[in-house]
Amino acid sequence: MTTQEEVQLVPMLVGGEPTLAKAGGTISVGNPARLNRPIAKVPRALEDDVNTAVQAAYTAFQSWRRVQPRERGRIMLRIADAMEAAAEEIAVLIATETGNALAPQSRPEAKGAADVFRYFGGVAGELKGETVPLGEDLLVYNRREPIGVVGGIIPWNSPVLLGALKIAMSVTAGNTLVLKAAEDAPLGVLRMGNICNDFLPPGVLNVLTGYGEEAGAALAVHPLVRKLSFTGSTEVGKSIMHAAADRIVPVSLELGGKSPVVVYPDSDNDTVVQGVVAGMRFTRQGQSCTAGSRLFLHESIHDSFLEKLVSKLQALKVGDPLDEATDMGSIINQKQFDRVCQYIEDGIGQSGAELVLGGMPPQNGPLTEGYYVTPTVITRANNDWRVAREEIFGPVLVVVPWSDEEEVLRMANDSHYGLAAYVWCQNIKQALNAAHRIDSGWVQVNRGLGQIPGHSYGGFKMSGMGREFSLEGMLDSFTQRKSVTVNLA
Ligand code: ADP
Repeated sequence: MTTQEEVQLVPMLVGGEPTLAKAGGTISVGNPARLNRPIAKVPRALEDDVNTAVQAAYTAFQSWRRVQPRERGRIMLRIADAMEAAAEEIAVLIATETGNALAPQSRPEAKGAADVFRYFGGVAGELKGETVPLGEDLLVYNRREPIGVVGGIIPWNSPVLLGALKIAMSVTAGNTLVLKAAEDAPLGVLRMGNICNDFLPPGVLNVLTGYGEEAGAALAVHPLVRKLSFTGSTEVGKSIMHAAADRIVPVSLELGGKSPVVVYPDSDNDTVVQGVVAGMRFTRQGQSCTAGSRLFLHESIHDSFLEKLVSKLQALKVGDPLDEATDMGSIINQKQFDRVCQYIEDGIGQSGAELVLGGMPPQNGPLTEGYYVTPTVITRANNDWRVAREEIFGPVLVVVPWSDEEEVLRMANDSHYGLAAYVWCQNIKQALNAAHRIDSGWVQVNRGLGQIPGHSYGGFKMSGMGREFSLEGMLDSFTQRKSVTVNLA
């Protein structure tokens, strides 16, 4: 078995150069499908390393801000091509470090990241302002200017896609970026950083690896960081917002969710079942902020819908993320695995709860070789239970039967989160009425798939603030407006 000493140390990217931590510390990166067997080491960045990276980004900003937006866009398009060429290699890296299965998740993620660069490269010319009609003697116009050094912090669940978003939005808009990868999934992000670095001037993109409380916190409070963009838990998001408040820097936060899925009585069919499985992100082990994890099933179709759902879920192959036939890989680490197990135990222990499928992970057999949890469905749940209120971030679907439309919409909104929502209903008038009444930043009607570059994505309530994934998101979150007033009289 490989020991930590034998694995490769993969450097960070600072000022265009491969860089180790000044204090020499490292963090082991493990394969969760092999109970965290080490696969590589990365530097453990501390405050000193963060300072150097931010300084490099600050220096690079002085000239990058003056590069024409369309030229910045052309560079994004070249990065997109290079990312596409390296997609398979990156997909394998993601699958190995996160446990996300190659075919349904890691490969589409790597390709999706290339798509993100392509999208923002294409819209770079739209970083334009407007003129204001205030009379013949005044020329008033607004410019969209970059903000400065962006501090980006990303989680492990979709590391390369989320990293690509932060890079493409920040850098296309003329900012420079210090990106802190998640300690559990830095390898794909470092590989992407090196690809970008082949095309960008040194210091425009810097990628750090390190723990959140060390490198992440130091980045959030750094005085030269003029914008913070964070994706992760609501709890850490609050601390990022506090850090931003101290220096009055704009912040965008993409946080957690407990997204409702409302199924109407006219939607008891296989297509909807498939959509609910996709929406719950079972093939990502439910480790997605947009997972539709609270299923509100109309009482009249409860039994027959669940029967179909169970047979779909039973057909999913759980196992080695690198096996092409695998539908579901492993949970990211021991801590999350334990957390998911605690939620399952708590959920099935509630009075009236019915375990329809799954439950506690197997105690023996091949699935004990990694952090595997099988698809789990608990029905007859109460919307007040912890499993129905808190984000589990595991393959645990909680079903709440309903019979009154007013009541189900009230329950759907009875959450401190408001990220995504799913409405399944053939009557489009009724479906849109529900979509408009649900307090979420993103509602899908009769669709359960993921985000597409070009649509603004972000949360209501404690799911976050700011919008990403779109031109508007880039304009609103990664540029600042300057108004220029010229007296022509
Ligand atoms: P998760 O629970 O999904 O790991 P976190 O919010 O803890 O989500 O982590 C998301 C990202 O935030 C990671 O890159 C992590 O290192 C970073 N992080 C964690 N704690 C802090 C902190 N106190 N300050 C800044 N970043 C942090």
